[in-house]
Amino acid sequence: MLMFSGSSVRPREAFIAVTYACNARCQMCNIWKNPSKSLLPVAEYLKLPSSLRTINITGGEPFLRKDLVEVVKAIDSVVPRARFVFSTNGMLTDTIVSEMEEIRRFHPNLGAGVSIDGIDGTHDSIRGVPGIFDRAVSTVEKLREKGFEDLRIAMTLIEGNYSEVGRVLDLSRRLGVEFTMTLAHDSDVYFKKSDNVSSKLLDGVRAELPVIVDRQLRSRAVKDWFRACHTAGIMDAEHRSKFTRRCEAGRLYFFMSPEGDVYPCNVLDFKIGNLASVRRWDDLFTPEVRERTDRIVAACKKDCWMICNARSLMIAHPLRTGAWVTRNKIRAHLK
Ligand code: SF4
Ligand code: SF4
Repeated sequence: MLMFSGSSVRPREAFIAVTYACNARCQMCNIWKNPSKSLLPVAEYLKLPSSLRTINITGGEPFLRKDLVEVVKAIDSVVPRARFVFSTNGMLTDTIVSEMEEIRRFHPNLGAGVSIDGIDGTHDSIRGVPGIFDRAVSTVEKLREKGFEDLRIAMTLIEGNYSEVGRVLDLSRRLGVEFTMTLAHDSDVYFKKSDNVSSKLLDGVRAELPVIVDRQLRSRAVKDWFRACHTAGIMDAEHRSKFTRRCEAGRLYFFMSPEGDVYPCNVLDFKIGNLASVRRWDDLFTPEVRERTDRIVAACKKDCWMICNARSLMIAHPLRTGAWVTRNKIRAHLK
């Protein structure tokens, strides 16, 4: 689990935004209004820690970065066996498919999450681009045709789409890919939004998600049972609180901006340091920075439940997670 010696931190998971440029105009995100001030040079990515096992490459729209393949090559040379997952809005179908194929030649362990937040016009309106639904679906289909298997539709729940969650899940089944969802989060660091979460949204997900939890629990895919545990936490604060008493941000995982600024996560506005300003990863964590990071994360009251921290928290609490899945799987099947 946690490998921690002296001032060094050996995280397992990283969320790396390689650009804040974006070709979508999403309602729940202002990243596109705040493009990156500069981009971390490719060679700096060689300083990432070799302990990483899962790397989410995100943006903005990551496939807008012209030297994306070079960036991924640099990361691959540090962590050749890590799983890379690209988060994309799916607009640039041809570029996405051709660059994923190019990357697969030197790093076969890769997948993609394509954002789809509703069916047809719902998705177009949330993402602010006419036709983006068709393009996103086409991207998923073409990646499937090219033999990519680690694919998912990633849905962000906001006021305007929670009632379509079942239909988007159906779409993922039809396309033969996995389905994940997350509640839109407020974040000054990342989304630059502070009004995503409303009582209407929370009431809506509490009404819609119990059916989805049961569908995930009845799925044949083991991953879906654990996703059900995550889904339950989106609508149920008490369930969530059993896992979130100790947040592992800044230890098990971290977020890095396109400029190389390292944060515990993409919500908490506390900059640990900049990768370009140190000679190697461990130098970011002087004993003072380590102590300060742990103290600030421990005091964080944001009660967030993103797929990134939820996954790490479920791994950190295997017995609790296993017991929840067993109990609720039986309940869902008996229903
Ligand atoms: S949510 Fe993603 S696709 Fe939408 S504007 Fe923000 S970075 Fe772009
Ligand atoms: S609880 Fe705070 S530190 Fe932990 S992931 Fe959420 S926002 Fe980040």
